[in-house]
Amino acid sequence: MKIDIEPGSGFCFGVENAVNIAEELLTEGEKVYCLGEIVHNDIEVNRLKNLGLVTISYDDFAEMRDCKVLVRAHGEPPSTYETARRNNIYIIDATCPIVHSLQEKIKRVLVQARKENGQIAIFGKEDHAEVIGLLGAANGIGILITGIEDISKIDFTRPVWLFSQTTKSTTEYEHISEVIEQRLRANRDKWPGNHLKVHNTICRQVSGREPRLRIFVRQHDVIIFVSGRKSSNGKMLYDICLSENKRSYFVSSIDEINPMWFSGAESIGVCGATSTPRWLIRQIADAIGEICQKHGI
Ligand code: SF4
Repeated sequence: MKIDIEPGSGFCFGVENAVNIAEELLTEGEKVYCLGEIVHNDIEVNRLKNLGLVTISYDDFAEMRDCKVLVRAHGEPPSTYETARRNNIYIIDATCPIVHSLQEKIKRVLVQARKENGQIAIFGKEDHAEVIGLLGAANGIGILITGIEDISKIDFTRPVWLFSQTTKSTTEYEHISEVIEQRLRANRDKWPGNHLKVHNTICRQVSGREPRLRIFVRQHDVIIFVSGRKSSNGKMLYDICLSENKRSYFVSSIDEINPMWFSGAESIGVCGATSTPRWLIRQIADAIGEICQKHGI
């Protein structure tokens, strides 16, 4: 059986950076609290927990004083930094630089949007940590667009600045942008100021991966996609796998693998989300090899 790991699989650099920062601090013997799970992958969260990383909730954070707290790659809204200042909490900021620059862009646009009585729309997943940070940067005027069904929240008589969460699908974002533009155009005779500015804010590590992943998936008889179930990027990439190859299976751990999936196959491709550690993907690929050997596949 031929078993390949997709070269682009493994942590994106933003998540890798946050995990490295946590590991370095833990190695130095620091007490490290992380605000929310450092990555949407339970196995990696447990590995870091065993090294001493303590995950805290927002309620815990509000009650804490005089300590160090790690902000993960997804970033945080300004209110988190205000709480930290008030409670004398030292923030170890592992916000991904791309997410940080997106937050700053939204803050700059906010000034212009207020001048023009405009709206800031953010395409993203509800309650996702990065999206909470982006809505926080939009300081109360951000409109969350989770999908095409949400665009009715937009007032088409006023200007719109559109942003996307970094890990969303490019195709879906383009579609949403087009529909918003059409609706604005339909109102433009009466409301000539209702322009749309689309900001290209999907991370290149995500958008660049999509076409390469499609090719990889087509080249294999069976695809094993490894991801935590809470990962929105994992869901999006797995949908891409399924659209290219019906024999694509989503697993979070080795014990979810069913040997029947490999029957009659000659090649298996293993890949994962930007929140799936490379070591886990490697481990699963090795386990698949053993399973195939054991069952004579
Ligand atoms: S997907 Fe891109 S923007 Fe998001 S954390 Fe990873 S590197 Fe940063």
